[in-house]
Amino acid sequence: MLSGLHPSLPFIKGRGEVYCRGCLGNNLFSALDLGDLPIANELLFFQGSIIEKFPLHLRVCLDCELGQVADVVTPERIFRDYRYLSSMSTTFLKHASDYVSKRVQERMFSTGDWVLEIASNDGYLLKNFLPFGIKVIGVEPAENVAEISRKLGIQTISEFFSSQLAGKLLLEYGYPKLIIANNVMAHVPDLIDFVKGLNILCGPQTQISIENPSLANILVGMQFDTIYHEHYSYLSASAVARISKLHGLHLFKVEELSIHGGSNRYWLNSISSSNFTDSSVDRISKFEVECGLFNAEEWGNYSSKVTKILNDFLAWLRSGEDNRQRIFGYGAAAKASTILNSIEVDPNLVIAIADVSLEKQRRFMPPHGIRIIAPEELFEEKPTDVLIFPWNIKLEIAKYLRSNLGGEVRLWCAIPEMHQVEPE
Ligand SMILES: [Zn+2]
Repeated sequence: MLSGLHPSLPFIKGRGEVYCRGCLGNNLFSALDLGDLPIANELLFFQGSIIEKFPLHLRVCLDCELGQVADVVTPERIFRDYRYLSSMSTTFLKHASDYVSKRVQERMFSTGDWVLEIASNDGYLLKNFLPFGIKVIGVEPAENVAEISRKLGIQTISEFFSSQLAGKLLLEYGYPKLIIANNVMAHVPDLIDFVKGLNILCGPQTQISIENPSLANILVGMQFDTIYHEHYSYLSASAVARISKLHGLHLFKVEELSIHGGSNRYWLNSISSSNFTDSSVDRISKFEVECGLFNAEEWGNYSSKVTKILNDFLAWLRSGEDNRQRIFGYGAAAKASTILNSIEVDPNLVIAIADVSLEKQRRFMPPHGIRIIAPEELFEEKPTDVLIFPWNIKLEIAKYLRSNLGGEVRLWCAIPEMHQVEPE
């Protein structure tokens, strides 16, 4: 099992030495320093609770091109009681079922093939394989979430994925035909061990499919609110190609996806069995260089733009207060925490934040304790303005809010800059 602060992987150790999580080099530059922030998904039980803050500082490695923040919090602290269920979003559910249909249409599977999903969450994706009679195994460390998936009939192992677990799986089940690792590599402190684990399970016929928001979108799309302590690594095609190659894997294709406001799907296979590289790998890697992803000066300009967005956001909130607007938030997600805590928003500027998660309702967003309420309470509160924090599913949320709040309420997103949102 992984532990948070690896003695073998001292990302930041004494005397301020900084090591890269991808290649163990120390050739990193500062990309964006957001200061000391609370852990994004740790909501408060009481308004006055004492909260811990940790540095949130994005750095980029010039050797392997990985973006990263220090692993100041352990995965156990973050994921043992995880509150995020993939099935809560219809957008993610459709994305998952489309993905499985495509693989089945491609006739990827023969009798006896099996599929492994790492961070299988509540079974939102793997359940789509079951009607086709394809064997699946999920790895999901959050016990409360794994249990939901088991109830759907999905064999689920409640552990963190590691090279050790990969060895055990290989011994018991052989090579999987497909390994899926969506939105998980960002959360892994010991990235090298994770990639070694992928390589152990990557047989001659295995394909590995990894989805993750792209570092390029943080830069080009101003998505700095996707930086939080739980996201240790920020991937790019260039970084995935380099780091996987160090451990026997080959990046043969990259697909650009609209999900999560711009993700990449990286396709890997074994170096020993690969003889093909799609043109997408070169094209996207070139774009990453051209947009300045590995250029300290470009990130310096970016930091100034982030400061302006945060100042504009705060000014907008204050003018709302002056004009007696009733401003609420929607979606008490990590994104909300990053942007609100970056400017330490006063709780009276945002009256409350609505969220569908029963686990989040009745809690408070740090640092000052903005109330989290049920959507039904929001509808009764008659807001004049609602800020949608999960901009990656803003249209889905806008449609829901518009149908429940009527046509008068103004719907907003703060990223990439303050703008009004209308459902399609
Ligand atoms: Zn590196």
